[in-house]
Amino acid sequence: MANEELVAHNATQFEKAIIELCPGIYTAVGFAASTQHMIVGASSVTIVDTSESTAAATNVLREFRKITDKPIDRIIYTHSHRDHISGASVFAEGREIEIVAHADFSSDLVGQDETRIAPAKALGRRTLAQFGLGLTPQERVSIGCGPGDRPTEGLGAGHIPPNRLIAGPCTMDLDGVEVELVFAPGETPDHIALWFPQSGVLIPGDNWYHAFPNLYAIRGTPYRDFQAWADTLTMLDGFGAQVLAPGHTRPVFGKDRVSEVLTSTARAILHVMQHTADGMDAGLSLDDIAASISLPADLADKPWLGEFYGKASWSARAFAVGTLGWYDGNPTHLGTLSDKARAKHMIVLAGGVEALSAAAHASTDHQWTLELCDHLLAVGVDVRELKASTLQDLAHTEINATARNSYLWEAKRLRSQPS
Ligand SMILES: [Zn+2]
Repeated sequence: MANEELVAHNATQFEKAIIELCPGIYTAVGFAASTQHMIVGASSVTIVDTSESTAAATNVLREFRKITDKPIDRIIYTHSHRDHISGASVFAEGREIEIVAHADFSSDLVGQDETRIAPAKALGRRTLAQFGLGLTPQERVSIGCGPGDRPTEGLGAGHIPPNRLIAGPCTMDLDGVEVELVFAPGETPDHIALWFPQSGVLIPGDNWYHAFPNLYAIRGTPYRDFQAWADTLTMLDGFGAQVLAPGHTRPVFGKDRVSEVLTSTARAILHVMQHTADGMDAGLSLDDIAASISLPADLADKPWLGEFYGKASWSARAFAVGTLGWYDGNPTHLGTLSDKARAKHMIVLAGGVEALSAAAHASTDHQWTLELCDHLLAVGVDVRELKASTLQDLAHTEINATARNSYLWEAKRLRSQPS
């Protein structure tokens, strides 16, 4: 079972297609987690973004080759996330070609400095959970930003580092096709957006896609600059684009529609910031801020702001922690009880382990059941099956693909542990 809206989002946004944006510019959707774009010049081709795997890139190149056999002379990375840079060797076809990126091209996913202390294993485990790696395509349904069913051979294998770094916004001639490379900090600080003034096509990278923006990724990310992201969307709206070809999901056509999706997404980000700041100013806890957030009615009804990928409540937590850090101003939280110590207190309050366990089994509030299960697990009571089945129940209705995958991934892990 799965949330019907999530199933429909996956079916409509990630159906495999090569889409002509204007004469000579094409987008590949549904072949990989991300989209890839092809600009056909007078005698050569430019590729924008290259997917997360050599297998996906091979499939896309095969489709692009049905359109043109001109040599690929240049690749442009919109940003440094792995799902955009890992199929470059396939498109280069063994040739030395120009690879263009932002001067600050860097990422939590590439070029990690192994001499620095970092929770790399946690990031790895949470990445597997978020993207449902280890689940079947049927279980997975979607990864929120891409199809649930996609090839993963050669994951991360085809990256070629950039050899031409852009120090500032500039205009390039893509063999007869003029493009403005625009600095567009948002999902990452090293974002480049591409504006084609002759055709009105805009490639915003991952600063826009048909889903609530992933202001916080649950695999674990440093703070993403909310204000910069909203400002970039407003700046991109200023181009008056006819076509918007995002780094994930299908292109948007029509000047008014493009403007509507960009400006409403900027407003959604600002709304999260305002709600969170107001709550913090009023002295509310992060739980109360996250539990009370919702989009205003005129944003909540926009299908592209559905929480298929990002989530407003997670974003509120990220904004709070990203601005003032983990302390919420309540001195209770300056001290610490370990999970086990708290669980012991809860068990005494409940009237014993059996009473707490009975409450966990009897609860119809899935979130509460999970919290009680965690207390019992902290003192060694085996309620793994109850937690796993509760996670599974949550997954069945969850609209957010990364939450759904994480629920199912953890349920599977709990059930695979030796008893
Ligand atoms: Zn991406």
